[in-house]
Amino acid sequence: MRKQVTLLFIVFMFGLCDVAFAEAEGFYTRKRTLMVDEQIEARGISDEKVLEAMRSVERHLFVPAIWRFMAYADRPLGIGYGQTISQPYIVAYMTEAALLAPGDKVLEIGIGSGYQAAILAEIVGDVYTIEIVELLAESSEKRLKGLGYTNIFVRYGDGYKGWPEEAPFDAIVVTAAPAAIPEELVGQLKVGGRMVIPVGSFYQQLYRITKTENGTKKETLLPVRFVPMVHGEEKE
Ligand code: SAH
Repeated sequence: MRKQVTLLFIVFMFGLCDVAFAEAEGFYTRKRTLMVDEQIEARGISDEKVLEAMRSVERHLFVPAIWRFMAYADRPLGIGYGQTISQPYIVAYMTEAALLAPGDKVLEIGIGSGYQAAILAEIVGDVYTIEIVELLAESSEKRLKGLGYTNIFVRYGDGYKGWPEEAPFDAIVVTAAPAAIPEELVGQLKVGGRMVIPVGSFYQQLYRITKTENGTKKETLLPVRFVPMVHGEEKE
């Protein structure tokens, strides 16, 4: 009798866990839908591919457990090592500004949590991403593999050098701010390729640089606030 009661109790507890889990999943899905409606679509992002990616990538899986309940808030969040996952609107804005097409080959500088890389990978063919903090490169690569992404390639190293072996790229998305536009990266764009990049120290501007037949076109997009793009030694 006691055995049966214990067994019943265990089955009941498992059931309870299931319900709590399903409830949590629904909770995040609702938060994500609201995030896209209120923070992204309402502010003018209209590229369906971007909206769809923002609806499907589970942002709460890219933030540390203690911040999970804030994952869909209208702000950046700390991810450790003094780094941040960008505000959802900024991720959507930069992705739209890169004017991506399916099949594009894209370079990201600064994998951080891997969230922006996942959003890009939902839309384009292949994403190459470089990260200067080794532990972030490793943990984000693992996370993205675990989520089933097979079109994201991660390198630990200095983003200022780009990824010459894989160049040229259709687009480059830089998610840390250098003091000036790195010419090496411009050189790794295809003709017609776009680079979306924050530039500056305290006051930063987001630019879109488009490579043309005979030079570059520079468009000023938004004032922004990113972590600095640091100089470092590449240790492969
Ligand atoms: N894209 C990230 C947010 C990045 S925060 C996300 O979606 O979460 C900026 C990242 O750029 C940090 O992880 C930082 O370590 C990295 N970074 C800074 N300078 C760099 C450089 N020179 N090369 C490569 N990565 C760099």
